[in-house]
Amino acid sequence: QAKSIGGNLIQPYVTGMEETNRWEAGLAADLRNATLENQLNLVFQKQNLTKTGELIGYEALVRWRHAEKGPIPPEDFIPIAERSGIILDIGNWVLEAACKEAACWENPVTLSVNASPLQFSRCDFAGLVSTVLMKTGLPAERLEVELTESTPIEDHERVHETILSLRKMGVRVAMDDFGKGYSSLNTLQAFPFDKIKVDRAFTQSLETNPHARAILRSAVLLGHSFKIPVIAEGVETERQLQFLQQAGCLQVQGFLFGKHLLPSQIKKFHPSLDRTGS
Ligand code: C2E
Ligand code: MG
Ligand code: MG
Ligand code: MG
Repeated sequence: QAKSIGGNLIQPYVTGMEETNRWEAGLAADLRNATLENQLNLVFQKQNLTKTGELIGYEALVRWRHAEKGPIPPEDFIPIAERSGIILDIGNWVLEAACKEAACWENPVTLSVNASPLQFSRCDFAGLVSTVLMKTGLPAERLEVELTESTPIEDHERVHETILSLRKMGVRVAMDDFGKGYSSLNTLQAFPFDKIKVDRAFTQSLETNPHARAILRSAVLLGHSFKIPVIAEGVETERQLQFLQQAGCLQVQGFLFGKHLLPSQIKKFHPSLDRTGS
C-alpha cells in the first residue's frame, strides 16, 4: 500500500524531470551554435560611487536571442551552459567581446565581466585573459572579473591559483552575489578577492527587512576589515541609496542609475573603428 502511494507521488515527478531534461538538452544544443550564429550579444550596466553618483565602471551582461524562442534570460541559460560545459565557450566569447568594447570607451572606466567557477578551474583562464588583453589592447588595470558562484567551487586549488595569476597581471577579482547560494563566508575566507559584491536580494529587502539591513552593514564592515571595497547591486530607489551611503557602502549598481546600455550607447573615442558585436 505504502509502495503504491510512493509510486503515485513519484510518477508525475519523474515525467516532469524527463521533460525538463529534454528541454534542457535541446537548449544546450542550441546554445552550442549561439556564439557561431551571432545570437549572443552584450549589454552594459553602470557602476557608480554611492556619494557622488560618479560613473566608475560597467558590468557586461550576456544576452541570448534564440532563433525561434526569442530572448532567453541568463538566469535560465547560464545554469544549462554550466552543466553542459558550454559556459567555457560562452565565457570566452563574452570576455573578448566585452574587452573589445571597453578598449574603445572614451571614459576609461572599469569593465566587469562575469565568470563561472568552471572557467576558473577547467581552463587556463589567466592565460586566456592575458591573450585577450593583448589582442584588444585593454589595460589589465581596467578589467575586473566577477566570480559568480552559481555552481559550487570544486577544485579550490585551481581556482586559488587562477585568482593569484589574474591579480599578478593587475586584473582584479570580485566575489559576486555575496550572501546568496554558495557565495558565503567560506568562499571569502578561502580566496583573496579585491571586492565584495553583495547580492541584490539584500538591497531589495532592506526597506522592509531589518535583517537585510543588518547583513548589509556587516558586509560593509567585512569589506573594511579586508580593506577591499564593497558594492551593492540591485539599487532601485533613493531610499536604498541613502541607506547604503549611511552604511558606508562606497559603490552601487542598479536600475536607479539607468537601464542596461547597448554597446552603441557608450561613447567611443574612435567612432570610425570597426566594432563587432555592437
Ligand atoms: P549578476 O552578475 O549578479 O548580474 C546582475 C543582474 O541583476 C543582472 O541580471 C541585472 O540585470 C540585474 N539587475 C541589475 N540591477 C538591477 C536592479 O536594480 N533591479 C533588479 N531587479 N535587477 C537588477 P541579468 O542580466 O539577468 O543576469 C543574471 C545573472 O546571469 C548575472 O547576475 C550573472 O550571474 C549571470 N550572467 C550574466 N552574464 C553572464 C556572463 O557573461 N557570464 C556568466 N558566467 N554569467 C553571466
Ligand atoms: Mg555579476
Ligand atoms: Mg549572479
Ligand atoms: Mg551579482
